[in-house]
Amino acid sequence: MEKSARPRTALNECVKVVVRCRPLAEKEKNEGFDEVVKVWPERGGVQVYNPKGQDKLFTYDAAYDCTADTQTIYDEMVRPLVASVLDGFNGCVFAYGQTGTGKTHTMEGTPEHEGVIPRAFRHIWAHIENSASPDVTHLVSCSYIELYLEDVRDLLSKDCKKLTIRGQYTSKLQNPPPSLRHSTTRRTALSPQRPQSTELNGFYIPEMTSVVCKSAAEMVRIMKAGNRNRASGRTDMNEHSSRSHAVFLVTVETAHRKTNRIRVGKLNLVDLAGSERQRKTGASAERLREASRINQALSSLGNVISALAENSPHVPYRDSKLTRILQDSLGGNSKTIMIANIGPASYNYDETITTLRYAHRAKAIKNKPVRNEDPKDAKLREYQAEIERLRALIEQR
Ligand code: ADP
Ligand code: MG
Repeated sequence: MEKSARPRTALNECVKVVVRCRPLAEKEKNEGFDEVVKVWPERGGVQVYNPKGQDKLFTYDAAYDCTADTQTIYDEMVRPLVASVLDGFNGCVFAYGQTGTGKTHTMEGTPEHEGVIPRAFRHIWAHIENSASPDVTHLVSCSYIELYLEDVRDLLSKDCKKLTIRGQYTSKLQNPPPSLRHSTTRRTALSPQRPQSTELNGFYIPEMTSVVCKSAAEMVRIMKAGNRNRASGRTDMNEHSSRSHAVFLVTVETAHRKTNRIRVGKLNLVDLAGSERQRKTGASAERLREASRINQALSSLGNVISALAENSPHVPYRDSKLTRILQDSLGGNSKTIMIANIGPASYNYDETITTLRYAHRAKAIKNKPVRNEDPKDAKLREYQAEIERLRALIEQR
């Protein structure tokens, strides 16, 4: 750790939990399903009618019914978090819920209903344009990975290259492990890009592609290219996306010339796999093994949430790659929002209650967000050092 008098804010801050209930789908209406969910937006309450007993009532930081659009959710809940990322904090927004409840609708959205992710891109670039000054330099870079059956894949590399997660190195730039020494020389499919070692919430994903971006539109193009790469060669894309987790990572570095300080905010935008229990009846042995491995990441996530909520001395982050990647986001150096998506139809009663309980537990997680100022591994610092080196070389001639 660097010794300096830099201001570091380390106040505990609970994970903010938002519930969003989607409208009853046409098909559900046609099939005559009743709505069993009533949202009380002014109280952050969600009531579920129980045909066999007492209604269940849960409260959250916010609750949105089918009349709320993503813009409202962004402005009320996500905007302050992204503003903190621009100020050098880590942030995470993750969407949780059973398949078909609106996770992708909320995170990615459609051209007509823009999701949280493209809104965050526009917010970041509006801030950069508004704060343009000769004394301030920004560098925005992004990566996009997918987790499926404990495999981590780089959606911005050719053939979705399989990646490994490594433990944290204390002094990456001065003394990188041999596997990292040559990684900056490699090039992959999309351009412009810099495959490199990247610190990720206490872990490195050594070969993860990191693309330096110049606009919100470019970030949307990168996200779409990643999605195409994810889908290519798949006939079962809907099924695959409901069984895998997609994590879009954005890093925003801001250098202030006058104070010579660099702030680095990292934002994780996560569309999790469907939380429904995988059907076991009639499945082959291979399918059952797959189902239990798909559940592994989400049940590890549940165990981490429970351990944190109960203040347990051991938090099993290492039980899955998802929980390793989200380690800082849950109980660590991050501001975090969980968006729990639910459907209103009666046939989803059990899954809806499971999601609401899971989300309720997450409210108790305390994070310790700290402004990341002058981190040793800031890319801007690397670039500045490189410019100084080249300048010195020119002057020697
Ligand atoms: P998931 O990613 O959780 O599997 P999707 O985001 O794909 O679910 O949503 C399933 C369907 O429901 C899509 O057709 C989507 O457009 C629709 N939908 C989800 N949430 C909403 C909403 N809040 N308003 C309108 N339609 C929605
Ligand atoms: Mg989806």
